[in-house]
Amino acid sequence: MTLMSTGGPGTGHPSLADTEQRVFWTAQPGAPAAEPPLTQSTSADLVIVGGGLTGLWTAICAKDQDPSRDVLLLEAEDVAFGASGRNGGFISASLTHGLAHGEAIWPDEMPSLLRQGRENLDAIVAFVQAEGIDADLRIVGKTAVALTPHAVADLIPMRDLHQRWGEDVALLDADEVRADVHSPTYLGGLRVRSGSGLMDPARLTWGLKRTAQRRGVRIHEHTPALHLSRSGGGISVRTPLGEVRARQAVLATNGYRPLLRRLSMRILPIFDHVLVTEPLSTAQLDSIGWHESQGMTDLGNQFHYYRRTPDDRILWGGYDAIYHRGNRTDPVLEDRAESHALLARQFFATFPQLEGLRFSHKWAGIIDSTSRFTPAIGTALDGRVAYSVGYTGLGTALSRFGALTMLDLLAGRRTERTNLRIVRRKPVPFPPEPLRYPLVQFTRSRLAQEDRTGRRGLWLRTLDRLGLGFNS
Ligand SMILES: Cc1cc2nc3c(=O)[nH]c(=O)nc-3n(C[C@H](O)[C@H](O)[C@H](O)COP(=O)(O)OP(=O)(O)OC[C@H]3O[C@@H](n4cnc5c(N)ncnc54)[C@H](O)[C@@H]3O)c2cc1C
Repeated sequence: MTLMSTGGPGTGHPSLADTEQRVFWTAQPGAPAAEPPLTQSTSADLVIVGGGLTGLWTAICAKDQDPSRDVLLLEAEDVAFGASGRNGGFISASLTHGLAHGEAIWPDEMPSLLRQGRENLDAIVAFVQAEGIDADLRIVGKTAVALTPHAVADLIPMRDLHQRWGEDVALLDADEVRADVHSPTYLGGLRVRSGSGLMDPARLTWGLKRTAQRRGVRIHEHTPALHLSRSGGGISVRTPLGEVRARQAVLATNGYRPLLRRLSMRILPIFDHVLVTEPLSTAQLDSIGWHESQGMTDLGNQFHYYRRTPDDRILWGGYDAIYHRGNRTDPVLEDRAESHALLARQFFATFPQLEGLRFSHKWAGIIDSTSRFTPAIGTALDGRVAYSVGYTGLGTALSRFGALTMLDLLAGRRTERTNLRIVRRKPVPFPPEPLRYPLVQFTRSRLAQEDRTGRRGLWLRTLDRLGLGFNS
């Protein structure tokens, strides 16, 4: 069965009748108290713009490297407002957007990339434990399922790839994968037990905020940075009510409108949509199996990611990656009925035994895609500003790597991280509008065609040869 055949865009779905437009994770109790906005001018050694995982890891690591450094973080909304509080909660060691992508682009650096990625994830797990952050972080791995015969054909090479790089992987036939998680759509699967896990993204981000504050980081929420410029030997950041003068600055603004023009050429803000169900009854839980509660994805360019939550709901997201003409990121675009209805129909095609279940939460978030699916990490304004943006939907662990790399670059340190080509070379810019929108739409249609037919057409093969792409 193909999930594409479950109805056309624009159709509502009864399971969405009472669904709130609200992020499940940040709607939970337990958020730290909001910090007051900046109301007067001030100075700092390091000013960080953006209070998601990237900004918070940068603040914490900067303090750990030099506790005397005066670090100030500015967040336009609340900490965890952005992708860091609204993602699927998958956490992966990969620095390269997966093994196949890494092997294709940086084959000679793969041993180092893999080791550094694994060390990064291990350090996050150790940090969360040491700081007592209740982020429900578990390294449970994931299962990737094949829904089409051509996806089944890809499973053996994928299994071999994972084995070659030392992952704990098992190939599952249709009966085996359905015995584990009960869906009639599964034709085969790959269970990868190493290298990734699940967590509660809001609790992780809130925990990092508290940890940063314990180390003396000053945080101002509801304080958008409006303008960035050189000032004397340092940097000035203008906000609505005050200016921050600092020796150095970090931009951790993900897919939001960047303060540096050069970044908007490299980042495509893509809206990714998510649903969360009401809690499942015991009978409903029994009807799906899924006893290891691992993360699940289906194979394809347009894929779903799904997982259980600690209170027995299912989070179901992905598939419909939407780019709005002109790089728009306004919150009004988050409520896209067609995308949520499509997700709902695909959910019940996957789990028909759950018919009648309702969705309690729906939302969307911005994925900062680059043409290389991996971040742009670098410096600007004579090395006074560092940036790390463009995680392309796989940033929950990579944000810490980006943070440490930015601190290396600002300090002028040559390290294992800064020596990687993934850091030294930047992703190729996307074309500007009015070309950008039609090119993205055309590429999306070619990706969907490949998912249907299993054939990678001329356009996608040309992009592959140029090392370019479009991905959520
Ligand atoms: C729906 C969705 C699902 C995802 N699922 C996963 C997943 O399962 N696993 C995974 O690894 N990755 C996932 N991702 C990606 C991951 O969440 C991000 O890569 C990661 O959170 C990026 O963190 P960040 O701190 O760079 O960005 P953000 O968390 O977006 O933080 C940027 C912050 O900067 C603030 N800001 C922007 N401009 C300004 C300004 N001018 N002044 C002050 N503040 C500003 C914003 O308000 C925001 O809070 C997902 C993303 C989305 C949207």
